[in-house]
Amino acid sequence: MIGIIGAMKIEIEKIDSLIQNKSEKQIAGTLFVSGTLNGKEIVTAVCGIGKVAAAMCAQTMIMAYSPDCIINTGVAGSLSDKAGILDTVIADSLVEHDMDTTALGDPPGFISGIDTVYFPADKYVSSLLFECASGIGGFKAITGRIASGDQFVASAEKKDKIVAQFDACACEMEGAAIAHTCFCNKVPFGVIRAISDCADGSSHMDYAQFLPQAAAAAAEIIRLFVEKYEK
Ligand code: SAH
Repeated sequence: MIGIIGAMKIEIEKIDSLIQNKSEKQIAGTLFVSGTLNGKEIVTAVCGIGKVAAAMCAQTMIMAYSPDCIINTGVAGSLSDKAGILDTVIADSLVEHDMDTTALGDPPGFISGIDTVYFPADKYVSSLLFECASGIGGFKAITGRIASGDQFVASAEKKDKIVAQFDACACEMEGAAIAHTCFCNKVPFGVIRAISDCADGSSHMDYAQFLPQAAAAAAEIIRLFVEKYEK
């Protein structure tokens, strides 16, 4: 079974509309929709915004459905000239950019206990996502680090800081929390994000304008991914 998590309804509703033999279960305030897509078993969920909601959803999905892998799909702000609006970024690794115990001598983003800063994405899942994203509508797909935090990044200053600290090429609010949860449960995962804005002074306007198209592009990549996934 393939698990698909998006933060917002607009990122998941297209995929849900394609699911056959649908069944639904509400757990801890989140609706899980399972069934088949192209003959493959899938389960989807809209987790809500931010790292806590995302981690709760991923843990619940793992415990209730035991998925073989989890994909986090949706939109993101670009931190790199290499990814423009409606291009896609596939994570090779993820970081929680607002995790900060540097005052105690830890590096930025350090997760104490696990003692890591970066969560690497599964290689098979990520390379298949890249292959699927590369075939979509003339837009570019790139692979790189994604930084997640509990804030909508909307200034050059904040953007430059995340790039300087973590060398990330996109920012969003859920991916690293899902990565962290999957890492602890030894579940392979991947993150695919279509760029809705450039995380700068215009990002609130770009986000509003491009969210529907970016979400649709990400959903189409997921549809292709499920079709091609063989594990
Ligand atoms: N109240 C709004 C909040 C949206 S937050 C709502 O519910 O619609 C923005 C969402 O898009 C998050 O899920 C995040 O992962 C992603 N995102 C897109 N651009 C972003 C940016 N520049 N910074 C952080 N997250 C961004």
